[in-house]
Amino acid sequence: MIIMMLGAQGTGKGTVAGMLSQELGIPQVSTGDIFRKNIAEQTELGIEANKYMSKGELVPDEITVPMLEDRLNCEDAQKGAILDGFPRTTVQAEKLDEMLEKMGKKVDLVVNLITPKDEIIDRMLTRRVCTNQDCKTTYNTKLHPSKVPGICDKCGAPLKQREDDSDPEAIRKRLEIYEEKTSPLVEYYKAKGILQTEEVSLRVNRMGPDVAKDLSEKLKK
Ligand code: AMP
Repeated sequence: MIIMMLGAQGTGKGTVAGMLSQELGIPQVSTGDIFRKNIAEQTELGIEANKYMSKGELVPDEITVPMLEDRLNCEDAQKGAILDGFPRTTVQAEKLDEMLEKMGKKVDLVVNLITPKDEIIDRMLTRRVCTNQDCKTTYNTKLHPSKVPGICDKCGAPLKQREDDSDPEAIRKRLEIYEEKTSPLVEYYKAKGILQTEEVSLRVNRMGPDVAKDLSEKLKK
């Protein structure tokens, strides 16, 4: 089963994808995480991707699309995957459809997370991530702090703020790109009849873990 997370930055896609991955036993495939791992390891791909990521821009398709295809061809993704951060443009969505068709698969469900803009910016500024690339647990200093400030509850590694979350200009750019290039995907998947929209917000007192719990119960039936 191929599940896709859609939604602006900071809406909780990673949280929901991580929980669904554990519940359903299929990997979370986050293009942003793959890039960050490559940046931490200073690979050629990481050095190239960082030129775009640090400014909040999209990494070119020539790099991103083959990287995603390789990941989906891995053994652990044969039963399915939860896509988090890909596709981000209609062109990427079309390339994904082609790639999945070759593999005899299709996107089964698109989970579209929506959060009011003022909450989104606050969530990005207060997001902290575990520096251990094999853990990558995400916290939020206001909504979901670690027990010991600055230290991961799960593995004890230090937490840090993502570089692109600490730069207001990169935040602004990423939200602008989301509006312009990624939000048209809502209509793309709505037209295919596979879109499920969920509000994640203090306004309705519903957070990522609540969405993940309801979805995994429904999907396991
Ligand atoms: P994320 O962790 O999903 O917020 O992604 C962080 C950054 O990685 C983005 O701002 C982009 O620079 C890059 N990135 C992640 N996924 C993609 C993608 N599908 N296409 C292009 N760039 C991406």
